[in-house]
Order: sequence, then C-alpha cells, then structure tokens
Amino acid sequence: MERIYNFSAGPAVLPREVLEQARDELVNWQGCGMSVMEMSHRGKEYMGIQAEAEADLRELMAIPANYKVLFLQGGASSQFAMVPMNLLRGKASADYLNTGVWSKKAIKEAKNFGAVKVVASSEDKSFSYVPTQDAWKLDSNAAYLHITPNETIGGVEMFWVPETGEVPLVADMSSTILSRPMDVSKYGLIYAGAQKNIGPAGLTLVIVRDDLIGQPIAGTPTMFDYKTHGDNDSMYNTPPTYAIYIAGLVFKLLKAKGGLGAMERTNRQKAALLYDYLDSTHFYHSPVARENRSLMNVPFTLKDAALDEDFLKAAKSRGLVQLKGHRSVGGMRASIYNAMPVEGVRALVDIMKEFEKARG
Ligand SMILES: *Cc1c(COP(=O)(O)O)cnc(C)c1O
Repeated sequence: MERIYNFSAGPAVLPREVLEQARDELVNWQGCGMSVMEMSHRGKEYMGIQAEAEADLRELMAIPANYKVLFLQGGASSQFAMVPMNLLRGKASADYLNTGVWSKKAIKEAKNFGAVKVVASSEDKSFSYVPTQDAWKLDSNAAYLHITPNETIGGVEMFWVPETGEVPLVADMSSTILSRPMDVSKYGLIYAGAQKNIGPAGLTLVIVRDDLIGQPIAGTPTMFDYKTHGDNDSMYNTPPTYAIYIAGLVFKLLKAKGGLGAMERTNRQKAALLYDYLDSTHFYHSPVARENRSLMNVPFTLKDAALDEDFLKAAKSRGLVQLKGHRSVGGMRASIYNAMPVEGVRALVDIMKEFEKARG
C-alpha cells in the first residue's frame, strides 16, 4: 500500500523524507556499524546527534541564550505537575487560562501543589473561543500564568501573546510548536509532547528561562527538578535517544524548507483550504470562533450526525484516515500538522465535496 493521508491528532504523520532517512540509517548509522538505538548516550556519536538537534532547534525557534532546552520524557501530561513543582517558587498561587480539555487537566494537576486562580474560562460556550485579555482577572503576584495556545481537541488557537508584566508566561505548545514563528523571549517556559509536530512519542520538549529554575518545592524528586536536567544537558539519566534523533532529522528538514516562516505560510494555506470550504456550505459546520480557528487541528461536524460513519468510510476508501473527532466532542477532526502535505488537505476537501453532493 502507498502512504495514506493520516489526519491523526497524535501520534501524527511524520515527514516522509525523515522516515526514509531513518530507514536508510537504521541498521548502520553513518558507517559507525550500529543503530542510533544501540548507542551509548555518553558516546561521542550520540552526544553529537543530541547537540546538533539542540543547536538546530535553537536556530529554528531563535531561542535566546538564557533559556535551557531540555529533552525529557513523561509527555506533556507530566509537565502539568513539573511546572507547578518548579515554578511556584514559594508564591501563594498560579494563574491559569481555561480554554479546553488540556487546560482543565493542567489546572487539575496544579491544584495538587498550590492554589490555582482561573483568570478566565470559555467553558460557558463549550470551549469554542479564547476569552480576550480585557476579560481576564490577572494576579500580579501570581507565580506564573499558564496558557494552552492551541487546544488540540477543541481546535481553538490563540494568535496573540498575553501581556503579563513580570509574571512569567507558561505555554503548553504541544500541538502548535514549530507551526509558525513564536517569540520565545515572551515566555518563561514552553513545553510540548513531541508526538504532534516534532517527532515520535516518548520525547517531551521543555524550553525554560534560566532564572526560573532551581527553586523546586520541598520533596521534589530529582527527576522532576528542571535544574537536574539543565545542569546535565538532559543526560542526568538515559534520554529518549531514538526519539531525539528523529526530532533532530525533523529540525534539519524544517531548516532546509525555509524555517518556521515558511511553515506558517504553508500551514495557513492548508487551513484556508478547509475553512473556506466549511464556510461555503451548510452541510458541514466549524464550531470554532473565526478568530480562534486552529491552523493545526480542524474540528467540523456534518449537518446530520447519522452520516458520520458513512463519511468516515468514504474518506477511508480514498486513503484518508483518523478523521473521527475526539470522543469528548464527536464529529470530525482533521489534524494538519507540518508534515501533512497540501495535497492531503486538497484530497480531504475533494472527498468532502463529493460526499456533500451525494448525500446533501
Ligand atoms: C496531546 C496533548 C497533551 C498530552 O500529551 P502527552 O504527551 O500525551 O502527555 C497535552 N496538551 C496538549 C495541548 C496536547 O495536545
């Protein structure tokens, strides 16, 4: 079978070029006689791979020198705990913006470590928008403000960065990192699970400003202290070596393709193909406020939910898979990360049009 178009929200499609290079290098990496998976993480070959991955990421995202790049494990879900454990720093509470399923999980976990103040919530309208900052109640003494710039399940994205003064901004960028340029200097900490827009599952990326680490709450396990990993170049223990190698190949490819500005242009083009069509028909519907429509995750519903299964079948027969919406919201969701080619989105719009013609 040829490659299909995989619209999964994560683990998600990876660039074909990266998979092919990994295949070619799988058994014998660059003539060294072994696979990357078999290398000692303290050997010079692997250390070179990781250092290059970090350097390429720093260049791609223009990460300032006073930020650490950490290659961790445990997924974004572990960061829901590591962030408060490390960033509360003796303060009474932290601020959280509640824009969807992932925000809620982050809030729930943070409550295990300190007081949480929800500055605003869009739960009143089924998480279909992001409240604008004039409607927020920010606490100038908060340890940090946590946001989820792209809610992967709701398909709700923020295209602006909040003003927080001295309060560090923390962002769960799991499903938006590398999709467009971000000004890292506006954030205290950025984290992302790799399996959406970076590489394989098993790697979690953390980018954190130096001055925020080193004051974990009492009893923080060594492995959950950012400083442990910062002081040891993410090699305090064995890092997820193969996932980091693949992520490194992705970083190189993005650089070769023109960097994050080029990614943004393609991603906007892909998203416009879908949203323009959704807006032109009454057969399908986008539940998300226009100004918050995600470039990466596009949920939509059919006018008649009884047609959902037939639609999924029709799409699958053309090699378009993983379009079923998250079980908590229903309908459809097309995740169109960096590695989804424009042709895949065109093929999706084509089948949507045909299905409307046949069943509308
Ligand atoms: C997928 C996702 C998570 C959870 O990631 P894990 O790596 O599975 O823990 C958290 N936040 C967002 C925004 C996500 O998209």
